Amino acid sequence: MELTNKIAVITGAGSGIGRASSLKLAGEGATVVLVDFNKETGEETLKLVKEQGGEGIFVQADVSKDEEVQNYVNKTVETYGRIDVFFNNAGIIQKFAPFTSVEESEFDRIMAINVKGVFLGMKYVLKVMEEQGSGSIINTASTAGVRPEHSVAVYSASKHAVIGFTKGAALEYANKGIRINALCPGGVQTALTASVATQFEKGGYVPEEISNMRMGRYADPKELAEMVSFLASDRASYMTGSIVLVDGGLTL
Ligand code: NAD
Repeated sequence: MELTNKIAVITGAGSGIGRASSLKLAGEGATVVLVDFNKETGEETLKLVKEQGGEGIFVQADVSKDEEVQNYVNKTVETYGRIDVFFNNAGIIQKFAPFTSVEESEFDRIMAINVKGVFLGMKYVLKVMEEQGSGSIINTASTAGVRPEHSVAVYSASKHAVIGFTKGAALEYANKGIRINALCPGGVQTALTASVATQFEKGGYVPEEISNMRMGRYADPKELAEMVSFLASDRASYMTGSIVLVDGGLTL
């Protein structure tokens, strides 16, 4: 229960890595503020948190909208007075497609959520953490943020940006008691990967090479949640600006 008395905000909490991490952080004693634009799945995660004896609230928000980000940050501070952990995780995958066929609207959609959403979350949470003089931020990037994945160049660019924000902000806040790290999953069994599989099944664009699962399987979201709880905790007290791969050897 090393996160007892800590307040943790998790975006994309309604599914996959966000849901598993919400349950893990709450299981370690944190009070959780669950953020998702999907009310139904976000509330379902809150129910699961409460069933395992945890505490928290759900706040519906689209992370790409400035006012909605301010609202979830303000609600957290009004309700609990502080933010100790911020898992800045909500994100989407682009449709697999050759570079030249990517529509501008698809570019805007990916950048709004994966880049602007991460930026806005950090911006408003950092204001709170700076006043406290403490905090841990974990941004979800991807293996696609450290090297490309085939036929998703816009997604790759968005995740490289997440790593850029992580390093830039870590440098600014290293001497202010705030640690900022990036989590890079490889392939994880979630709704996101299921949507990619469905695209292929429906005859959508299939790249010539698709990434190998070196361990012969996807990760369980719980295997990512382990790293999230470590980075959130004081056990990671000398880690900031780190780009942490949890990818089953995918990038080897
Ligand atoms: P998921 O689709 O299971 O969950 C994502 C959650 O984010 C959903 O609940 C969704 O409603 C929410 N969300 C999406 N857009 C939002 C918005 N604008 N505002 C608020 N909430 C929003 O996906 P996941 O696999 O758990 O992905 C979580 C993160 O991990 C993403 O940033 C993704 O890019 C990253 N990632 C996933 C994998 C993988 O293999 N699954 C690999 C590398 C990185």
